[in-house]
Amino acid sequence: MELEDIDTIAVLGAGNMGHGITEVAALAGYEVNMRDIEEEFVESGYDDIEWSLGKLAESGQLSEEEAEAAADRVTSLVDMEEAVSEADFVIEAVPERMDIKREVYADLEAHLPDRAIVASNTSSLSITDLSEATDRPEKFCGMHFFNPAVRMPLVEVITGAHTAEETLETAEGLAESFEKTPVRVRKDSPGFIVNRILVPLLNEAAWMVETDAATIAEIDSTTKFGMGLPMGAFELADQVGNDVTLDVLEYLNETLGEAYEPSPLLERKVENDQLGRKSGAGFYDYENGGVDVPTDEVSEAIEHRLLAVMANETAKLVGEEVAPAGDVDQAVLLGGGFPEGPAKMADSVGLDTLHETLVELREETGAPRYEPAAYLEERAGEGFYDSDEDGEERSFETIRVEYPGEKVGKIVLDRPQRMNTVSPTMLDELAEAIEYLEADEEVRCLLLSGAGDRAFSAGADVQGMAGSASPLDGISLSRKGQETFGKLESCGKPVVAAIDGYCLGGGMELATCADLRVATERSTFGQPEVNLGLLPGWGGTQRLQHVVSEGRAKEIILTGERYDTAEMEEFGFVNRVVENDEFDDQAQELAADLASGPPIPQEFIKRAMLRGWESTEAGLEIESQGFGHVMHTEDLMEGIDAFVSDRDPEFEGE
Ligand code: NAD
Repeated sequence: MELEDIDTIAVLGAGNMGHGITEVAALAGYEVNMRDIEEEFVESGYDDIEWSLGKLAESGQLSEEEAEAAADRVTSLVDMEEAVSEADFVIEAVPERMDIKREVYADLEAHLPDRAIVASNTSSLSITDLSEATDRPEKFCGMHFFNPAVRMPLVEVITGAHTAEETLETAEGLAESFEKTPVRVRKDSPGFIVNRILVPLLNEAAWMVETDAATIAEIDSTTKFGMGLPMGAFELADQVGNDVTLDVLEYLNETLGEAYEPSPLLERKVENDQLGRKSGAGFYDYENGGVDVPTDEVSEAIEHRLLAVMANETAKLVGEEVAPAGDVDQAVLLGGGFPEGPAKMADSVGLDTLHETLVELREETGAPRYEPAAYLEERAGEGFYDSDEDGEERSFETIRVEYPGEKVGKIVLDRPQRMNTVSPTMLDELAEAIEYLEADEEVRCLLLSGAGDRAFSAGADVQGMAGSASPLDGISLSRKGQETFGKLESCGKPVVAAIDGYCLGGGMELATCADLRVATERSTFGQPEVNLGLLPGWGGTQRLQHVVSEGRAKEIILTGERYDTAEMEEFGFVNRVVENDEFDDQAQELAADLASGPPIPQEFIKRAMLRGWESTEAGLEIESQGFGHVMHTEDLMEGIDAFVSDRDPEFEGE
């Protein structure tokens, strides 16, 4: 079953997750049969979908018509045969019990076409075991959505021991068509990725309180304000539900051993029915004051201890080949709302420091959960991510670096779920990637594009930046963006921006720093900062007027209006307009064409033009220097020879 062949999806279970997944699939344009065991359960699920679609329409994220059309694509059913006999893909979201799931699969197999794929939304059960309860283990995988499915961007796609590669690819394609980001879990491993990191983190926090190593206030202050997590550890535990955390922990304890022994504090909370928000009290009392996290009880020792535990879990996942560090980071970033993934956070502090923390704690307490994983020992000196000295491919969190051939080095802004908006981490990674590709002798042209087909980049990640920023923070953030994007201008190699979709604000400022821009017909441009009470802060007020006229630049920036590709071509901002379905090929072709040009003159051309902004004199001087320099190059000989003999030159940069 390939993605293109999927029309009808059956979702089994109309509860919390089932109705959310149904809504997401219907929004993506699929016909969805949502099935539960009682009429009232499917009806209640359908009501939840209608309510949620109404909210999306109310907040302007959907039109009324789109919301209605999505609701119309959902059919509520109780009869299994009707629900699945035409289905191409089934997503099962019935209660987390092996016996119930087995029963449902037996019923399902009696009516489901052979071609269909079955995915379970299980949070913890073994995908291999589940697959063996069906007649199609190779067409079975995990698709772990997060709650609420409509809002959470991550889907863990989990392989079982029998799952075919094609099944995983189709499931990943399906998740993408739902506008989610799939992260592959390459081994059927308990807790998959996100729970495997988060649950031991919560457990460690509880152990620290249990053993009087820290207070709840200190831990939440450190996690929220020191480490920048979206919530304090105990605030998160209360949100998730202490019973849910304990269930996962007990499962990890049972399957992976004593390193996952639950903290007695967590057990007592569950025994006393202090489950968190949903029961009115957990670590905080929600009927009496609620969450109160102090800003000033941040402690480095607590941070190191929690990071050490997360780093150890990350190392186990990477070492056991469940997922590479980049995927662990992406999953936790999207599934846990972390500002950075655990591998990246660990590297920032220093993996050797965290390794030492574990060794000391192991000696002090004797607790098996501090035993460093073999992979952590191995990487302690270097970190999870390679330094780039060896020229190997680098892993980033917010961008991807690719080598599509023909001497092109491609940087893909890779936050499609957030319209590739530019975060501070992305600025750091862009700076690093540009320098890295500039130093790579095999790369002769840089191509910049956005992941997905909705945006090149919709601007700065305002959500992630606004709020507590002071004027001084603002100045330094602006300088950082200006400098990072400026690296494209000062890079000696030609740079092409390939734009498909939104190219707005900071995204447009980034594209402005490329040498050439190619865009699809459907793209949209603009510097909308003034509409938010801002001004372009990453070079827009200066650089745009060098590409379009000063008059046009003022119009674009002061009105904050949006422009289509045809207008931007007329303004001279877009060099080439391409048809939507020829985008990738044409962008690569243009980049490859520039990559085949003579590197030394290209570098002088860029430098002379850039210096010319300050003064024509300075620019002319570089032009002369360059002209003199190329006189002695082999490439000049090659160029002349090729011209005379009517062939394509092969420039070597010598
Ligand atoms: P839920 O209890 O809200 O919903 C389960 C639904 O399945 C109920 O409506 C129930 O009537 C229905 N059901 C019961 N027996 C059935 C049967 N034999 N056939 C069809 N439907 C049946 O549970 P949930 O939170 O939606 O969880 C469902 C699955 O999703 C579980 O495997 C769970 O581990 C997983 N999950 C849950 C979350 C979460 O945060 N709630 C997150 C990710 C994954």
